This record gives sequence, structure tokens and C-alpha cells, in this order.
Amino acid sequence: MAKYTPMMEQYLKIKADYKDAFLFFRLGDFYEMFFEDAINAARELEITLTKRAGQDEPIPMCGVPYHSAANYIKNLVEKGYKVAICEQVEDPKTAKGVVKREVVQLITPGTVMESNMLDEKDNNYIASLSSFEDGSYVIAYNDLSTGENKLALITTGWDSVIHELYNQPIKEIVVSSSLDEDCQKQLKDRLQVTLSYQDEVNFNAEYRDLCENLNDERLMKAFSRLLNYIQHTQKRSLDHLQQAEIIQLNDYLSLDMYSKRNLELTQTMLRKGKHGSLLWVLDKTVTAMGSRTLKKWLERPLLNKHEIEKRLETVQGFYHGFMERDALRETLKSVYDLERLAGRIAYGNVNARDLIQLKKSLNKIPEMIQILRQFEHEEINQLTEQLNYPDHLVTLLEDSLVEDPPISIKEGSIIKDGYHEQLDKYRYASRNGKQWIAELEQKEKQETNIKSLKIGYNRVFGYYIEVTKANLHLLPEGKYERKQTLTNAERFITPELKEKEQLILEAEEKSVDLEYELFLEIREQMKEHIPELQHLSDVVSNIDVLQGFATVSEANNYIRPRFVDSKLEIKNGRHPVIEKVMDEGSFVPNDIHLDNDKSILLITGPNMSGKSTYMRQLALTAIMGQIGCFVPCDKANLIIFDQIFTRIGAADDLVSGQSTFMVEMLEANHAIQHATSNSLILLDEIGRGTSTYDGMALAQAIVEYIHDNIQAKTLFSTHYHELTSLEESLTHLKNVHVRAEEFEGNVVFLHKVKDGAADESYGIHVAKLAELPEQLIDRAGVILKQLEATETKHTRTSESSNQLSFFDEVNEVLKATKEQEELPVQSIAEDIKNLNLLEMTPLEAINELYRLQKKVSK
Ligand code: ADP
Ligand code: MG
Repeated sequence: MAKYTPMMEQYLKIKADYKDAFLFFRLGDFYEMFFEDAINAARELEITLTKRAGQDEPIPMCGVPYHSAANYIKNLVEKGYKVAICEQVEDPKTAKGVVKREVVQLITPGTVMESNMLDEKDNNYIASLSSFEDGSYVIAYNDLSTGENKLALITTGWDSVIHELYNQPIKEIVVSSSLDEDCQKQLKDRLQVTLSYQDEVNFNAEYRDLCENLNDERLMKAFSRLLNYIQHTQKRSLDHLQQAEIIQLNDYLSLDMYSKRNLELTQTMLRKGKHGSLLWVLDKTVTAMGSRTLKKWLERPLLNKHEIEKRLETVQGFYHGFMERDALRETLKSVYDLERLAGRIAYGNVNARDLIQLKKSLNKIPEMIQILRQFEHEEINQLTEQLNYPDHLVTLLEDSLVEDPPISIKEGSIIKDGYHEQLDKYRYASRNGKQWIAELEQKEKQETNIKSLKIGYNRVFGYYIEVTKANLHLLPEGKYERKQTLTNAERFITPELKEKEQLILEAEEKSVDLEYELFLEIREQMKEHIPELQHLSDVVSNIDVLQGFATVSEANNYIRPRFVDSKLEIKNGRHPVIEKVMDEGSFVPNDIHLDNDKSILLITGPNMSGKSTYMRQLALTAIMGQIGCFVPCDKANLIIFDQIFTRIGAADDLVSGQSTFMVEMLEANHAIQHATSNSLILLDEIGRGTSTYDGMALAQAIVEYIHDNIQAKTLFSTHYHELTSLEESLTHLKNVHVRAEEFEGNVVFLHKVKDGAADESYGIHVAKLAELPEQLIDRAGVILKQLEATETKHTRTSESSNQLSFFDEVNEVLKATKEQEELPVQSIAEDIKNLNLLEMTPLEAINELYRLQKKVSK
């Protein structure tokens, strides 16, 4: 076996504990990586791979300079990797043998604290998942940068776990190494987050305060798993962590994982960016904390009518106080990110500038309170009462820190005069000394009669008296000691000057040290106020989100919704995002009615007519209402939905490379299994992922099932025209269609939703719009005519290419029967003629074809 140098032995020993991380091994001014780490890092970071002599063969190696490591670390962590920072923990000069090294921090995607790696408008969540023998699961969430902790108990099975996790923006998930393999795989594949392990779930006494409100063993264990992992990776004070908030999932509108994605609540499906999402439209917050809070609200809309109304009432207050709102927004602009700041105070990485920023932010609170009072609105007053101005904190910062401190906390010029007696003494001594020197300069000038004589200072020689060569003859003998010769001047010192210099430098050094100590003390004192700051940031964030709702509602003409028990009615509803990306006023508003009598709308209409838009518009309006925002329409009577499910047909499913039909069925199943009569289900062109009959049969069966067993409010768009006949058999189902008109051979989309089933299809016109070759379009027209002809008495036209094959088959049968004269063609042709295709279900059609085939092959 190869034997390595003692340093490499040390490396390998440390690396063994951090197998799943890049080990940044500090060597002088570099962090070095070796072996596999080096090969992988060189590839990921595009840095040069070198070699280091090993016993048998060279060791792959690469490194990054210590001072620019932050960017490399960021790069790796953003790609989902972990980085272990291994530092020299003793002074190399005094070390005997190999310098001692230790990992001082493990930086992982879910635990980054460095502000350059955090998006200020996003929370950075890490979660832990624990499973229990009774079949329940607990998910614990933490955002290390803000100190927020949340716990959710899930008793409805693994499926719900995946849906819950999927909807939260987590970067990393900590599980037990004994968690079911298949579950681990699903977490990795479906959530695409970094997976980490922590098996220690025993409760660490250090965190007693954080767990005080927990009385369920399962919650404690799950929370401990997370805290232990964080402790293990961070190895430092976590004073800013807050008590865990227990989330009752039943208190919030539940969105299945497909809905958040399909409805593009916080990011778009295609580009994965905020632009084009509902968040993009609604985010009129001023502060970063407000923006993060808005996102949280969007991820968990409310169910409690009282709480929703409370938010709406506040929004109304802000809506009407236009001038005051402007003033409020102006003050919010100067409020710093109190929440993240509290986290950094606990971590010990704030400098004096940050604290001055904090002071300035806090000083805005009285002004904010004053503005809020001007609204003279009850709900706003209630919010205002929660805004506490922490005057003692402001006083401390005011008394101690100068207004414009340097970035460094180790070079002095931070602490105000009068704050600390000893510091004042040192400063006095140094200032006094400098004064004395200034006076000495005057005195020497006079005594020697050299006008250009001056006293200067440099780091090497300290204070000196400088005399130009031309004047040297004027100096008395013996008094001055020559120190340095320049081209045209000489520098001298005197014992007296040296003595003062000693005093000044000592005082300065001591005062810099003392300032550093005092600053640490102040920072330590600040820690005690972290909960206060966190509360304040909470209230400010809420105010910010609600004023943002008022601002966006005013800008986009939203109105306050009413919540009713059963009759949902929206007048002139609009899609909040699409109307923003279209020219002003060009979006066509539509009404919608849903109640217990007519709870299912079956929507037909040509491609591109606006079916999907209409459906999503309802879901988005419902969500906006349930987070407490006004909604895009002229009048809204909404019902509170307990859950929203969406299923977007394969043709529209742009996202995954997964086997689409299977996913489609899984999603439909999820909706059917969990929906209640208070849920909203959107089924957009379901059944597209398989052959016509299959798809149509399934689509129909699904509608029937929902109709008979669930009675959830359902919007169902379909290109299977045949399904419109369901209106006759399903009493709660109603047909609506989106109109389009033909004008001079072109299709014109009116985007207007009307009662009844669509009677025309414009597939070919859409193809024309898409600029398919003219020859092809013409040919399609001919085929269509032929097909229409085969339909004899009925005037309806075929709808899609899937339909073509259906009629093709009928044609085939007809042809076959003609060719075989000896068969009882006459009666078969008669049978076919008499078929009422419009009235037939797909299954009946198949049966009929089968019967005919039997007849022919006899
Ligand atoms: P479908 O689902 O029927 O194929 P979509 O809902 O995807 O149609 O709408 C297609 C396009 O039509 C949208 O991207 C939008 O540009 C436009 N559109 C849809 N509804 C409206 C509307 N109510 N007013 C104006 N334009 C609309
Ligand atoms: Mg569509």
C-alpha cells in the first residue's frame, strides 16, 4: 500500500469524514483539493488540474486562492454540491510537525449564510423528513438565514409528503440513512434537491428553548434531526433560530404539486423564472422581507374566512389611502432586511456598517407608525400596534457607533467619543500627543529659523523632523540624531520626539484593540434583541405585502371579492398574468358560474381559443382571493376552496420527459382520491396521451366519477366533441364553449365563453395560422370534405387528427364492404347509414364496429 506524507495522511483522515463534500484543504494562501475531488472540481470550476508527487504515482490536485474562494464555493453549492472548509487551526510558525487542521464549516445548498450566495427575495430552506412506525411523517423546515423553523405532521401517506415538499422551495433535504430506498430515490429524482443524512434524532439540551412548545415525540425527533444536522455542519452559534411553528396543513388551501407548477404561481414552467408567473404580477412589495413573505403566502393560501377577510379589509384600507400609501412605500424603502440581519448578528458576521444600517431602519419605525395612523383604519391600526420601536436598541447604537464607520471592524474609527472612558483616555493621549507634535513643529521652526522644517510620520521610522539640505547648516550641533537621507532633505529624531511617539502609538494601538473588543460586546448585546428584531421584521413584512396587494389591485383594477357558501360567480373575469403581457384592454373578459346544481363545466372550442386560459383564470382568481388580495374581474362571489387540483393534458405538458400518459393518470388519480365537494379540479384535455378510444373512454369515466362521487367544482376542457352529449346524462354538468368565427376563410378567435357545445372545429385554420405549407393545408381541406361527406345526415365536422383515424376506419369498412359484393353488403351499408354517430359514446362506436366486422367476416 502506498504511504503518503504526513500531510496527505492528515488530508485523507479528514476527507474520510466528508465523503460527500468537496474538501477545501487550506494550504497557505490556497484551498487545495486532491484525488477525485480535484478531478471533479477542475471539471466543475474549469480550473487547471495539476499533480503532486505521491509515493507510487502522482496525486491529482487543484486549488483556488483563499481570497477568491467565495465565488468558487458559491458555484459548487449552487450546483447542489457541499463544500467542507478545512482550516489551519494553529499558527504554522509555532506548530510542531504538520499544522493542525479542522473542518470549520460544511457549506451545503440548504445551509448557506453568506449573503453573496443568497437571493434576497427568496427563502433558503433546508428540510428534514422523518418517518414513524405508525405510518406518519414529519417534515421540519429551516431557513438558516432568517432563523425560521416550521414543522408539519403528515398522516395521509407518502404521496402527501411528496406533494408538500414539492410545493416548498427547498434546496436540501435531510433524511435518515435507513429511509426506504425507493423513497430516497423519489426525493432525489422528483424534487431534485441535495439529499443529506443525519441519524442522530436525540434531542440536544442546548435547544430546549426551541422545542418548548412541542409535546409530540415525533415532532421533537424530526426537529432534532434537522437541528443536529445544522449544528454538525455549521459548528457555531445558532442563537437566532426561532421556536418551531407547527403548521397545520389543514389550515391552508392545499395545492397538489402539479398545480403550483401548472398554474405558474411563483415561476413559469418553461423558463423557470419569476417573469410571467403570478408572483411576478403580484409582487409590489418594497422590502426583500416582504417579497419573501408574499411568496410564502402564495405557497399557502388560507382557508379561514375570518383571516382572509382580515387581510382583505387591510388591503382595502391601504387601497383607499392613496397618498398615505405612497408615503408608506417611501419609508419602507429605507428599511433594511431586519430578518436576515438578525441571522447574521447571531452568526457573528455583521460589521459596524450593518449596525448603522440597522439603526437607520429602526429609526424609520416611528415615522412609519405615524403614517399608518393617518389611514385611520381599524385593521391597519391593529397592525400598527404590533410595531414596537425598540428605543433602547437604537439608543445603544446611537451612543456607541459613529455614523460612517469603515467596513473593517479591526482598524478602529468605529466607536463614538464619550461611549467608553478608557477609550476616551487613549484617544486623549493620542490626540494630545499629536497636538504636542504640532506645537513642537512650530517651536522648532522658530528656534532654527527654518521655515520649511516639518514633522512627518511613516511606518518605518515613526515621527521625524525633516530639513532640506540647503538649510542643514542652520541646525545646532548635537541636538538631532540623523535617521534617513533623501535626495534633497535629511530626517532627524530627538529623544523627546521618540518619547511622545511611543505614547501616541501605544495609545493608538490600545484604542484600536479596545474598539474591537467594544464592538464585539455591542454585537453580543444585540443578540439578546434578536427575537425583538424578528418580530418587528414579521410585522413590517406583513404590512409590506398588504400594501403591495393594494398597490397592484389599484394598478390593475382588481376588486375585493366576497366569499359565499355555494354559488360561485365571477363577472368579467380576467387572467391576471396574460392580461399583463397583452396590449392594454385586449384581453377578453369572461364570466363564470358554478354552483351545486351545475358544478362541472365541460369546455369545448378550437385550439387556441382560450380554454386553458379560462380554466387557469378561475384557479388563479381563487388563490388570489384566498391569500387576501383583490381579484381581476368586475364582481366576484367566491367560495373557499379547500384544495386545487390541476391536470394538464399531454399535448400541453411541456415540462417533463416522463412517460406522459402514466403521469397524466397518476395526476388524475391524485385528484380523484383527495378532492372533496369543496375542491376545484381543472382537467385540461385529459386523455390526450393515449389512443382516441382509450383517452375518450377514460376522460368520460373520470367526469362521470367526479360527477357521481365527488361533486367537486370541475372545469373540464376537451377536444373529444363526443363528450358534450354527457350534458344529457349528467345533471350537474353543463356545456360551455369558446367561440371562434370564420371570416374570409380565416379563423377569428373571439375568446368569448358561451353556453352550449362548440359546433365547429378550426384545426385546419390553426394550421394555416401556423403557416404550414399551403399544399398541405389544401390537402387537409379535401380530406376534411371527404370525411364530412361520410357523415351523411350529420353536419358536424371532425375535430382533430385523432378523429380522422376514427372516420378512416368507418371508411375502411365501407370500402371493404363494396369490394366484397357477395357479402350481405346491402344490410351492412344500411346499418352504417343509420348510425347516429353524434349520439354514440366511443364505447358504443367500438361495439358497433366490432359487430359489423363480425357480420362481414362470417
Ligand atoms: P386553448 O387552451 O383553447 O388551446 P389557450 O387558453 O391556450 O387556448 O389560449 C391561447 C391563446 O389565446 C393565449 O395564449 C392567449 O394569447 C389568447 N387568449 C386566450 N384567452 C384569451 C382572452 N380571454 N382574451 C384574449 N386573448 C386570449
Ligand atoms: Mg389548452
